[in-house]
Parts: sequence; structure tokens; C-alpha cells
Amino acid sequence: MTRALIDELSRTVGYDRLVTDPDQLLAYGYDATMGYRGDPGVVLLATTETDVSQALKIALAHGIPCVPRGGATSLSAAVIPPSGSLVIDTNQMQRIKHFDIDRRHATVEPGVVTRDFRAYAAHRGLLYAPDPSSEATATIGGNVATNAGGPYAYKYGVTRDAVIELRVVTPATGTIELSRGRDDVAIDIIIGSEGTLGVVTEIGLQLRAMPTSRAVRAASFPNGPEALRTVAAIINQGVVPAKLEFLDDVTIESLERARPWGFPRHAGGLLLAELDGEKSEVAAATAQIDAILQTSGGDVATVSPDQAEQWWDARRGITASLALIRPAKIGEDICVPRSQLAPTFEKIKAAASTAEVIVAIFGHAADGTLHPNLLYDPADKAEAQRATNLLVDVAEAGLAAGGILSGEHGLGRVKRPFVKRAYDPNTLETMRRIKKAFDPDGLMNPGAMWPD
Ligand SMILES: Cc1cc2nc3c(=O)[nH]c(=O)nc-3n(C[C@H](O)[C@H](O)[C@H](O)COP(=O)(O)OP(=O)(O)OC[C@H]3O[C@@H](n4cnc5c(N)ncnc54)[C@H](O)[C@@H]3O)c2cc1C
Repeated sequence: MTRALIDELSRTVGYDRLVTDPDQLLAYGYDATMGYRGDPGVVLLATTETDVSQALKIALAHGIPCVPRGGATSLSAAVIPPSGSLVIDTNQMQRIKHFDIDRRHATVEPGVVTRDFRAYAAHRGLLYAPDPSSEATATIGGNVATNAGGPYAYKYGVTRDAVIELRVVTPATGTIELSRGRDDVAIDIIIGSEGTLGVVTEIGLQLRAMPTSRAVRAASFPNGPEALRTVAAIINQGVVPAKLEFLDDVTIESLERARPWGFPRHAGGLLLAELDGEKSEVAAATAQIDAILQTSGGDVATVSPDQAEQWWDARRGITASLALIRPAKIGEDICVPRSQLAPTFEKIKAAASTAEVIVAIFGHAADGTLHPNLLYDPADKAEAQRATNLLVDVAEAGLAAGGILSGEHGLGRVKRPFVKRAYDPNTLETMRRIKKAFDPDGLMNPGAMWPD
């Protein structure tokens, strides 16, 4: 079947747009999630929406599953192609088609790299807020498909809050064009659907004015729960930080092993807060947050702009630094009500201690997101198994706290086994019917998100 598919794709989109060499295909079997491998039959390097719609039509006629792929930074194994499938790689669809400074509006193709676009906008005095820590390689298309967030999410929202238009090629009806105000429900269904409803081919984005002033504070606490209780206090007292990141002692240790960044190694828990806006607004918010941090027992330090840049870089590199503690990890991603951050942290650390697994916990704490990373050595089969088992405890701890399965990484294959626990059967059936309306034969990214 793959041969017939490749022949027809060659005739339609051109052989030079296809990857068929088994050695090259190997690379398309992986994303950033450890322990998962797929086996695609062919990859389309799409350059236009026409490429996408023609290839999709052909693959669907052959009954071949299709997997859209951006930067492949998924941490939920959302880009693991089933055997013999067609991967639709949108990385080469990289044009910024339109940028209107006055209206603060841009239209981009899905393969535009998030950091490149944020820099492009910043150069023109505007802020594109969604800032996943993977921004150096993740794409706007992938961000839409996962509704990516980042440190800015609490104040400025996630990708959903920036998207105002979408073009999507769907199996059921071909290309659809959606606008906010007119098609809000459809836009919100597509965002976060992890390539299971169609391929996003164009995105209209709302930008913001760039804040003119910022200040950064670091507060060390004796332990993680005290830091996390302070997060709730900060938000409850009305401070709106641009960023409020939490790092536990294991995370700090891994960062300092990677490079002497100057993080306080003695801290059991660290909060990094950034306040931004107009100068007077920042001064007032900084005074307020300093008072709360000190009252809560934090050891507060002002972070210089240079050091802040370095520390935000370090923060984006945590995934790599954790390898200095253990070579492999299961990167979890839960989101709980802020009042539950500290108890959930304690529950996960207790379960990890019983299981004898090292867990590093960090996250965009202001919006309730925690990333418990379960660290293990693949050469130690028993430890690897204990870490795998612990994944269940972490997911359950999030749900028991009134949280959700994923704060930002999505469900993919990693969280798929837990979906039936998170949704009642009627809700799930309703969602399945919506999925069927877009993808009647269930050929879009099968294996991701949707339980059997
Ligand atoms: C070091 C690191 C840090 C990270 N930090 C964050 C973070 O702070 N916040 C966060 O939210 N995530 C984070 N992630 C996870 C990941 O980067 C995000 O999920 C990101 O949005 C994925 O973008 P991508 O382009 O790599 O998409 P991919 O990984 O290629 O794909 C992700 C999903 O999107 C679908 N998809 C991709 N392109 C399209 C398209 N054009 N049309 C339809 N579906 C498509 C895929 O099928 C898949 O289901 C991090 C990952 C890493 C490795």
C-alpha cells in the first residue's frame, strides 16, 4: 500500500517533496518524548496548503493514517507515527505572510519557529506572548495544535488567546477558514486537538504592545511547599506577575551541575517572579510582591536584567540539565488549582520517595502548572519500571486535587490511558462525535489523545 501511495504522491506533489529513504524516515519516528518510537511509511515536506490538501486526500483514499508534524518537541508522544503512515511535515511552510503593526495583527504559516516570530514581532515593538520553553525549535502550528503555554501564560494567556484566524485542511470537508467573533467554537475545538482533526495551514495572530519596563525577583524558601503556598498568596492578593516560576531543589541542583548559573543551591524551593508594564505600575507591583515574599518567609533578592536573561535561558534548558541527575526521564505535566499546588507537590514527593525514584518538580506555578519529572537510568531496568509505575500516581494526584491531565504539553500517547478517568462517558462520546465530523474514518494522528 505504501508503494502505491508514494507513486501517487510523487505524481501529484513531486518526488522531491517526499522522504522515502528508510534511514531518513527513522528520524521521523521520534519526537522529544523518551521511550516512544513510530514507523512512518513516507513523509511529505509540505511547502504550501495545496501540498497538504492533495496529500491528505490521496492518503485518506488509500486508508493511510496521517500525522501532522511541526518541530517534534512534543513531550506527550503526540508525533509518533503509526506503521506505514504519512507524516505531513509543515516545517517548510515558514512565511510570515502579513504583519500589520497598527492593527497588531500577523498571518503566519504553521512552520514559523516560535522564537523567530517572537523576535520578529519584538523587533517591531510588539509582543507575541505565547513563550513555550521549547520556543527555539517548536513551531506556531505545533503550538496551536497543543495550545502551548509558557511562563507568560498567567498574565498574557496561552496560544488560544492569541489566535484569531485559522485555515485548516480537514479530512471531511477540505480547507476551512475560521475567524474569531464568527467561528469561536470551531477555533477552540481545533486549538489543542493535537493534529487529530486536520492540518493547520495558516494562523492569524493578535499581538500586544511590548511592556516598557520590567523587574525580576528571586525568593528562596526552605522547601517546595512553602514556596508553592506563597504562589497562592501572591495571586490571591491581586498581584499579576508576568512570570512566576517555581523550581525545586532537585531542579536547582541539576541546573547548577550543568553550569554555575548562580542559583541558590541551598534553597529547598525557589520562586522567580517577573513584573512588567509601565514603570510606575512595575514599581508598585514589585513593592507588593516583595512584601508578600518576605512575609511568607522568602529570602528575596533583586535579579539584574543580565542575570535574569541568563536565568530564563537556564529555565528553558531544564530538560537537558536533568540528564545530569539521571540519563532519562518521564516529563509529567499536570495543572491543579493554586491552593492545591503545595499538597500535590507533597503527595508526589512522598510517592516518589516510596518508589525510590528521584523526581524534579518545576513549573509555571502562577497558572497551577507543575512538571514532575520522573528521573531514571534506562540501564537500571528496575528503576525504569518504578518510574513508569509512578506516572500513574502523578496523574492520579493531579486529578484528585481537582486538576486536569495536562497543563500545556497535551495528552498524546503518554496521557491517553488516563483520559477515560478524567471525562465522564457522555462528555467523551460528545467529543468523539465532534471528532468524527472532522475525521470520519479516524485517520488523523491515530493513537494520540483519543482513548479506544
Ligand atoms: C525542552 C522543552 C520545553 C517545553 N516547554 C513547553 C512549554 O513551556 N509550554 C508548552 O506548552 N509546551 C512545552 N513543550 C512541549 C512542546 O514544545 C509543545 O507542545 C509545542 O507546542 C509543540 O510544537 P511543535 O512544533 O514541536 O509540534 P510537534 O511536537 O511537532 O507536534 C505536536 C502536536 O501538534 C500536531 N501538529 C504539529 N503541527 C501541526 C499542524 N500544522 N497542524 C495540525 N497539527 C499539528 C502534531 O500532530 C502533534 O499532535 C516543551 C518541550 C520541550 C522539548
